[in-house]
Amino acid sequence: MLKTRQTKYTKAVEKYFIKYNHTSNHQALDYLKDWYPNLTATTVHRITERMVKNHGLKLAPLTINQVKRFDSNLTIHDHFHCRNCDSLRDINLPDRIIIELETLLNGCRLTGSLTISGVCQKCIKNKEVV
Ligand SMILES: [Zn+2]
Ligand SMILES: [Zn+2]
Repeated sequence: MLKTRQTKYTKAVEKYFIKYNHTSNHQALDYLKDWYPNLTATTVHRITERMVKNHGLKLAPLTINQVKRFDSNLTIHDHFHCRNCDSLRDINLPDRIIIELETLLNGCRLTGSLTISGVCQKCIKNKEVV
């Protein structure tokens, strides 16, 4: 019985993060509560921890308020982070930019993903820029 319920929750959490990438445990719980009223923050936390451990989910760059959020895009990629609306967008910086940066760093090698920040088109269009 317990096992069935856990599987049900795990599937729901997995589906949630595929649909709503770059979101947090809190956002997942908020959304899933409508369908699963007995789902708790602890359960969501436990499921995402396990998914990260099993490489089914990756950590995405933190929110402005340092909240952990997840990435269901498991390929290696970089991010654009909007400092205004806190949204993340997946990008792949071309090799020539990486090489340029490595040159600027006197031959240090970039190995991880990069997060560049700014203001997204949506915020610029809505003149929400602060
Ligand atoms: Zn924005
Ligand atoms: Zn991403």
